[in-house]
Amino acid sequence: MTRIPPLFVSHGAPTLALQPGRAGAMLTRLGRDLPRPESILVVSAHWEAAAAVVSAALQPATIHDFHGFPAGLYELHYAAPGAPALAARVAALLGAAKIGCQVVPDRGLDHGAWIPLRYMYPQADIPVTQVAISPRLGAAYHLALGHALAPLAGEGVLVLGSGGLTHNLRELRMHAADDAPDWVREFSDWVADAVEAGDAAALADYRARAPQATRNHPTEEHLLPLLVALGAAGADAAGRRLAGGVTYGVLAMDAFVMGSRDAAPA
Ligand code: ZN
Repeated sequence: MTRIPPLFVSHGAPTLALQPGRAGAMLTRLGRDLPRPESILVVSAHWEAAAAVVSAALQPATIHDFHGFPAGLYELHYAAPGAPALAARVAALLGAAKIGCQVVPDRGLDHGAWIPLRYMYPQADIPVTQVAISPRLGAAYHLALGHALAPLAGEGVLVLGSGGLTHNLRELRMHAADDAPDWVREFSDWVADAVEAGDAAALADYRARAPQATRNHPTEEHLLPLLVALGAAGADAAGRRLAGGVTYGVLAMDAFVMGSRDAAPA
């Protein structure tokens, strides 16, 4: 079976769904160019729980988990089928790694999942489910969560981390040029260098080691899906950065295709 490289994508603000820009075009290209998965496991910044939870929903609802945005956003839906067999596989893999995982029957797709998927797979014909992150358990836990899910890449499953390379909503600039300030660029480049070098240890300790880590991520939930995606590429994982530009002045929109240090993804 074709190996499906795990991905991390930055979803920015919900308005990405209406204004694709550079990042939307990049997501469309990714969906077209990567091997087509048989099912998709999304690890979104917008589903948090105390411990791992996976959804076995047969027909996941589209969750509009944002407020005060243009009416058109609330009319968008993503009607992909659910993936209960994948949910069971995820629970089994996590259980084997001694990571407890609850299976719930009806959790839908949050905007961290459906907004990128609408660009990547607009036909909404690939079964999809989500697993929750647990920000209080920290970066190393999410790397281990990804490691436990590493067999999925060889089973036709796309592990899709969805968050933001940078994510400080208090410093958004509504009319900024596509040109990040130094504190955003330095952090983004540090993470990209570490991912491309396959330095998982540095990334697991990014909060202490990366420049301007807490300014770019006042809370961690938007970066943790990157750790899961890197872990899901295996023990010798490394990734390739795909530049997605910057929105609202400070939201870096880059994506990463994860492969191994020995065989960088094409
Ligand atoms: Zn988000």
